[in-house]
Amino acid sequence: MNLEEFVLTNEKPIRMGFFFGVLAVMALWEIVAPRRRLTVSKSVRWVNNLGLVFFNSFILRVLFPAAAVGVALTASKHGWGLFNIYELPLYISVIASVVIMDFVIYVQHVMVHAIPVLWRLHRVHHADPDYDVTTGARFHTLEIILSMLIKFATILLLGPPVVAVILFEIILNVTAMFNHGNVGLPPALDRVLRWIVVTPDMHRVHHSVEDDEANSNFGFSLPWWDRLFGTYRDQPRGGHEEMTIGIHKYHDAKDVSWITGMLLLPFRGEISEYAINRRQWSGTEEENNG
Ligand SMILES: [Zn+2]
Ligand SMILES: [Zn+2]
Repeated sequence: MNLEEFVLTNEKPIRMGFFFGVLAVMALWEIVAPRRRLTVSKSVRWVNNLGLVFFNSFILRVLFPAAAVGVALTASKHGWGLFNIYELPLYISVIASVVIMDFVIYVQHVMVHAIPVLWRLHRVHHADPDYDVTTGARFHTLEIILSMLIKFATILLLGPPVVAVILFEIILNVTAMFNHGNVGLPPALDRVLRWIVVTPDMHRVHHSVEDDEANSNFGFSLPWWDRLFGTYRDQPRGGHEEMTIGIHKYHDAKDVSWITGMLLLPFRGEISEYAINRRQWSGTEEENNG
């Protein structure tokens, strides 16, 4: 049995193994050497953030039982999409598919920050007042559904090998848990590693309450897009231990830490200065900072 067949026949246990394996390693690392002190108790965080994750997986399973893999199988059966039309050696189409799908995620991430109504959904990921492995999977259900539809559209156009879709989803899952870890690497190692993968210190900048910092480092797995498109930012101004994580105006645990508050958050309040069409580029420094 080759690697492709192995992945296809053991898809579920491989996914579960990576999810729970990396979750356990990161959780242990966060206990042994936490980067920052948590503001909310770990049990509240874990119950609510992971509660939302399990709720989302349930909804996805109901809405899209065949999932992304099913769409990739359909595309290959009908010869839809770039890589089903132009046959390349498998390893090339797998690598290219994973890289292209990661780029789509980057563009999608920039988009949910830029478009006011989508930022309402994505705020749920940013409203977490702390930053740990469970933050990495905490997204509003509607954003998860939107992501899935964008992924389906990408697959239909790209026609990636089925194994590439599975690999991409596993890599995204693993890197998101790794780079949301409340952990730090030795600075020298971090500097080298961030040329290959988004590190915890790199993505933590993106969770700052400061607008300019939150609008940096959109990458989830591959760090190249931020450098290539000018959204890269090296470190937070306040330093990793002192920087404030979260979003302005929402600090009440009921809104930002409880699962009910997270599900309602997109429908609350105004987006105000954060939205792309409300920013003031002229005027005093005071106004600019809103
Ligand atoms: Zn974001
Ligand atoms: Zn994040």
